[in-house]
Amino acid sequence: MLTRRALLYAGTALGSALGTLGLGRAAHSAAVSASIEQPKTPSARSFVGRAFDMKRLAEKTGDQSFGAVVVRDGRIVGQAPSRVVVNRDPTAHAEMEAIRDAARRQETRHLSGAVLYSSSHPCPMCEAAAYWAGIDRMVYGSAATDGGAPMLGRC
Ligand SMILES: [Zn+2]
Repeated sequence: MLTRRALLYAGTALGSALGTLGLGRAAHSAAVSASIEQPKTPSARSFVGRAFDMKRLAEKTGDQSFGAVVVRDGRIVGQAPSRVVVNRDPTAHAEMEAIRDAARRQETRHLSGAVLYSSSHPCPMCEAAAYWAGIDRMVYGSAATDGGAPMLGRC
């Protein structure tokens, strides 16, 4: 299963690269609209499970051990492992990357109605990003703890 997800991860990276290189919008859209494999039974438990799949992918790539997904209308619309080490980017926490992935795929910076699932409690930076994206709720950890609505300045 991880191999297929690794391919999806690569597809996301390709989408980012195309966008960065300024290639045509059509090519970029095609790359970012690559579908995300959905859990057979959508539930908080399966979404948390995917966040942990992303966490394992982060570990496999030598990155910090975190993963996250963004769910909207019962579907995963963004997912990512931590890319802090791989991208040499201190802001590339899994939650930040999952929010970026969701915004690209949804072609909007507004993710109202979405839920952010994380392998761990989101840090203040990621919670603020979720707030600015309009994400409704945060759920984290293996027990699928309800983290409530994202807020600014909670630290
Ligand atoms: Zn964070």
